[in-house]
Amino acid sequence: MTTISKEKFVLSMSKENEQVAKVTSGSVVTFESYDCFSDKIVDERVTFETIGWDSVNPATGPLYVEEAAVGDTLKVEIKSIEIGDKGVMSVIPGAGAFGSTFEEEQSKIIPLKDGEAIFNDKLRIPFNKMIGVIGTAPEEGEVSTGTPGDHGGNLDCKKIAEGSTLYLPVNVEGALLSIGDAHAAMGDGELVVCGLEVPARTTVKVTVIKGQKYPLPFLVDSDHVMTLASEDTLDAASERAALNMQQFMVEHLGMNHVDAGLYLSIGADLKVCQVVNPKKTARVELPKSVLDSYQVTIE
Ligand code: CA
Ligand code: CA
Repeated sequence: MTTISKEKFVLSMSKENEQVAKVTSGSVVTFESYDCFSDKIVDERVTFETIGWDSVNPATGPLYVEEAAVGDTLKVEIKSIEIGDKGVMSVIPGAGAFGSTFEEEQSKIIPLKDGEAIFNDKLRIPFNKMIGVIGTAPEEGEVSTGTPGDHGGNLDCKKIAEGSTLYLPVNVEGALLSIGDAHAAMGDGELVVCGLEVPARTTVKVTVIKGQKYPLPFLVDSDHVMTLASEDTLDAASERAALNMQQFMVEHLGMNHVDAGLYLSIGADLKVCQVVNPKKTARVELPKSVLDSYQVTIE
């Protein structure tokens, strides 16, 4: 099995990035990753200022997948996310939903034990381990690992978790997949601007699907199929995630636009992934039971 060490990272996704490993479709690969602060907040005296935006969101990779050609889909099954015994968070004046309420930067180290984050002596939060940054190279130019988009990137979607499968576009030969920014826990919205940031070992299976069947990025877990969209505003992201799911229902379930729209309004949920990155990310969750009713399965 291939393991990619955390020292092999990128800070942007681009076709110019040199591959650090090459595998065939169907391979299982482990990506070791730094936390989003490049593992530099070793105690609470270290603040974000000493790290700087240049060392934020390193993503391990890129991985070249041999059969992946432009116009294909890369299926990424998240097999496991292994984390250590502590995580870190940071508040930054001006950043996130509460930026106006913070006067100075502050770091908080949070112990992790027996599947829970020990926030303080009264509050514990169960893990919901997830991947913040996961993406392929865009067709042109470079996209910072801090920004989400149709190529994936900094989606900060809490449903990109163990057992879920993310479908990403292949925009360049080999796809060039990079993964980083794991969280031990995060709520929808990621309000303060970070999750519970952790170094991780993420093991995925990568499979090339010829052509693009789904509106991408597309996410599947045990209960739902989900469309993810990132735009400058949450309004625009919400609308496109909804349109993408309508398109999925028309193309895969054979529904017309009217019925798909009507059903989505009563049988699906629009949710917020994050509102703190340069582009905001929304998702629409459609229960898998709807696909079962149409005897449709996802490849
Ligand atoms: Ca992130
Ligand atoms: Ca993060």
